[in-house]
Amino acid sequence: MKPDCLFCKIVARQLPSDVVFEDAEVLAFNDINPQAPTHVLIIPKQHVATVNDVADADAAVFSTLVLAARKIATDLGIAQPGYRLLFNCNVAGGQTVYHLHLHLLGGRQLKGLG
Ligand code: AMP
Ligand code: ZN
Repeated sequence: MKPDCLFCKIVARQLPSDVVFEDAEVLAFNDINPQAPTHVLIIPKQHVATVNDVADADAAVFSTLVLAARKIATDLGIAQPGYRLLFNCNVAGGQTVYHLHLHLLGGRQLKGLG
């Protein structure tokens, strides 16, 4: 745990969150400022700051997060018609919380990124 990290504090239950899924590796909770009817953040319990900081040897974290997101989407009934998965990386990517997180967005028609 990184003591000054917001999401590490959520993992440690030092800060509240609206948890939708948890297992040994992952915590998922509703985004506090949702951009869609479903907006869940899926994070590894172990601190890593950004996509850039995931070591090649630890790359399984990406599939762990995506598989958790897929399960949550299915459980929430949005696997059909569909959803969006998104990582923001560093300042130019719009990242504001420096603990790796996967956004799961759905529940409405999402616009293209172009
Ligand atoms: P990003 O811009 O990719 O770093 O996304 C960070 C996300 O964390 C934003 O969508 C915020 O709304 C969300 N967020 C910030 N603080 C909290 C919190 N305490 N609980 C839940 N979501 C949060
Ligand atoms: Zn952290």
